[in-house]
Amino acid sequence: MRPIYLDHHATTPLDPRVRAAMRPWWEENFANPASIEHSLGRAAAEAVEQARAQVAALIGADPREIIFTSGATEANNLAIKGAARFAGTAGPRRIITLATEHKCVLESVRDLAREGFEPLILPVQPDGLLDLDRLREALAVPTLLVSVMAAHNEIGVIQDLAAIGALVKEAGAAFHVDAAQAAGRMELDVEAIQADLLSLSAHKMYGPKGVGALYVRRRPRMRLAPLFSGGGQERGLRSGTLPAPLIIGMGEAARLAAAEGALDSARIAAQRDLLLGILQARIPGLRLNGHPSRRVAGNLNLTFPGGIPAQAIMAEAPGLCLSTGSACSSAEIEPSYVLRAIGLDERAARATLRLGLGRFTAPAEAEQAGHLLADAWERAAAAARAAE
Ligand SMILES: *Cc1c(COP(=O)(O)O)cnc(C)c1O
Repeated sequence: MRPIYLDHHATTPLDPRVRAAMRPWWEENFANPASIEHSLGRAAAEAVEQARAQVAALIGADPREIIFTSGATEANNLAIKGAARFAGTAGPRRIITLATEHKCVLESVRDLAREGFEPLILPVQPDGLLDLDRLREALAVPTLLVSVMAAHNEIGVIQDLAAIGALVKEAGAAFHVDAAQAAGRMELDVEAIQADLLSLSAHKMYGPKGVGALYVRRRPRMRLAPLFSGGGQERGLRSGTLPAPLIIGMGEAARLAAAEGALDSARIAAQRDLLLGILQARIPGLRLNGHPSRRVAGNLNLTFPGGIPAQAIMAEAPGLCLSTGSACSSAEIEPSYVLRAIGLDERAARATLRLGLGRFTAPAEAEQAGHLLADAWERAAAAARAAE
């Protein structure tokens, strides 16, 4: 039997329509889009520009504001380090972010502390949301940049970006949004949220792995120092030959996200409710982490009762592809820092599983997964009782 894939926060499958859009650019036309002296190069450049427009349209941006990168990790590094290094330490040095941000944001900010900047890592509330009063207080000190994730990769919560953006702009700081998990899963408009910088990743929205984008505001112009030295592609902000097939795939993924994201979310939410209903009926005391309604449709982050370790439950459910934490930290033995940040103790954090449903999850799979997981929990709990 094929495993049921419930790990859409780690990565999503390639949509067949995205694969079809990419194919000619691997096969017939492999030209470098910078080679505008010849016809194949010009055709590749045109296709890249169409993809840029598709990505821009997804977030209400101008195509000239889109810089292609290798993914959201690079986009986040470029946004945060690029903004700080361009501004320098002569002006405001404070950089604000949240304790629950992705490692690439937290580590970027940590790197900047060694360069003379002053990071402030704000806690979040037990529901995973930022307390706006905490942010307002933090912004009383002149601030260079605020970085906040739109939709969370572990607990699924959606921050109030419009309210956060308003506070950040009132304070005269730059606003960066990590929207890797948000694209196609919620409405995203850079004007409505007043973002200056916004990161995207293709492989989180049914596109290919190894490509992403950074939105960089033009009016007023957001200035960045590039991470790489080189040929000056992407307005000098990201040197390196453009991976045309990946970019064209990302464009198609963005087009589909814009056209179908809302419908996808409604369908996925129904399947999530079905799955959660089965688990809640069979597992008394099961707890849902993160705000109950301000969250993306496909996410469930669940703490199982009785302190049964998530690893033991997963071992009893080999037919399910699940995660105990974010993929980036799953090699570590430490329980998720995100779960600790929303107040779970170590035992509860270790008893927690993340489920992520997606575009191609079938209703029958959601139902089957609910029963497989409840069966697995019962076996793991019985084994734990027998061992006592
Ligand atoms: C996956 C993810 C990243 C990293 O994106 P890559 O494209 O894999 O580098 C960053 N932030 C969030 C919220 C993510 O989910």
